[in-house]
Amino acid sequence: MQDCIFCRIVAGQIPAKKVFESDEVLAFDDVSPVAPVHVLVVPKRHIETLNDASDSDAELLGKLLLCAKTIASEKNLSQHGYRAVLNTMSGAGQAVFHVHMHVLGGRELRWPPG
Ligand code: 5GP
Ligand code: ZN
Repeated sequence: MQDCIFCRIVAGQIPAKKVFESDEVLAFDDVSPVAPVHVLVVPKRHIETLNDASDSDAELLGKLLLCAKTIASEKNLSQHGYRAVLNTMSGAGQAVFHVHMHVLGGRELRWPPG
């Protein structure tokens, strides 16, 4: 999608600090990090929100989670802890309408989130 900022990052039209890449998934540093580690994991294919995912996306969604696990391991967060968050719709803080998982860590994370 031309006007989607994450599709443009996937297409290489906007620079991003890539952390992980596979055929279907891209992970890159968040431009405005809220934690020492703040990585966004996106499917390369445009899916607007989790609401728009279907059964046929099950494997792809699983790959996002496994990518979060890999990033946490590479950033040495596996033992202390990290958070994988997927905001859905504006009421939950979704600002970019291309499914993305935030991987947060490197500081104490409170619960419940705001
Ligand atoms: P949301 O609020 O939709 O869950 O998260 C969107 C995230 O995308 C925010 O944390 C924001 O900082 C990040 N973001 C927005 N535009 C860009 C960009 O152009 N590049 C990168 N790397 N991150 C972005
Ligand atoms: Zn997109």
